Amino acid sequence: FRGFIGACIEIHDRKMAETVLQDSEKRLRELMDAQKRFIADAAHELRTPLTAIQGNLDILIRYPHIPEDEKKDIIQDVQREATRLGRLVHDMLQLARGDSGATMREAEVDFSKLLMDTWRETERVFTSHRFVLEEVQKVHLFGDADRLKQVMLILLENALKYTPKGGEVRLSLQHQGTHALLKIADTGMGISEEDLPRVFERFYRADKSRHRSPDPGGTGLGLPIARWIVEAHEGHIWIESQVDQGTEVHVQLPIRTEE
Ligand code: ADP
Repeated sequence: FRGFIGACIEIHDRKMAETVLQDSEKRLRELMDAQKRFIADAAHELRTPLTAIQGNLDILIRYPHIPEDEKKDIIQDVQREATRLGRLVHDMLQLARGDSGATMREAEVDFSKLLMDTWRETERVFTSHRFVLEEVQKVHLFGDADRLKQVMLILLENALKYTPKGGEVRLSLQHQGTHALLKIADTGMGISEEDLPRVFERFYRADKSRHRSPDPGGTGLGLPIARWIVEAHEGHIWIESQVDQGTEVHVQLPIRTEE
């Protein structure tokens, strides 16, 4: 009887081991597929500015006597595309670091002060929009101040990029028991129902924003970076939006203090 029980346990253990192995194989395959997709998308995104730079340089070499003002336009174009390339590479490196498990620095952060400082810095630069400060409650939490500031900058930059001049950007921060809830809202172009579930995908840019003139110059990596940072702090980020009405980005972070 003991032998029989032993055999049963062995079969059960073997089955368990097989299931665990199958699950990890599946997970590994999914990760590898995601990596492949990332590389393919990255190559595609890098090729666009690179082609523009090469094309413009070709013109300058082939036609050295074109009028000065045309030459200036071409050089400015090269500069714009080179800046875009730089931004793409910078953002991709950040995400790659996130993928390879880069850790967050852990220290006590005066979150309300961090938000207010970033808000005021941005308000000084962007006189084109109205900055409306709603309630900002006192919040101290445990986390990486530089990365959290980066989240704030990404969200503020998006709110400004996708809201026409004269529009409004609003900020609020609430202390809700064990969590802090940050909200950045705008009165801009909004995100359609089809685009909304995809905006956290790497390189995803809604067609409407991709083809806006002037090009707002996004990389489609801002929100994925913001999500990586928020989730590394065990928080959540989500968006509510209505086309032509505006967008609200919510970030919920746990208020952990140093145990
Ligand atoms: P990007 O660098 O293009 O802004 P993000 O990853 O930050 O990339 O955002 C992805 C897409 O989500 C944007 O291209 C845009 O279509 C949409 N989006 C993000 N924030 C807003 C916003 N506040 N209002 C309207 N659309 C937004």
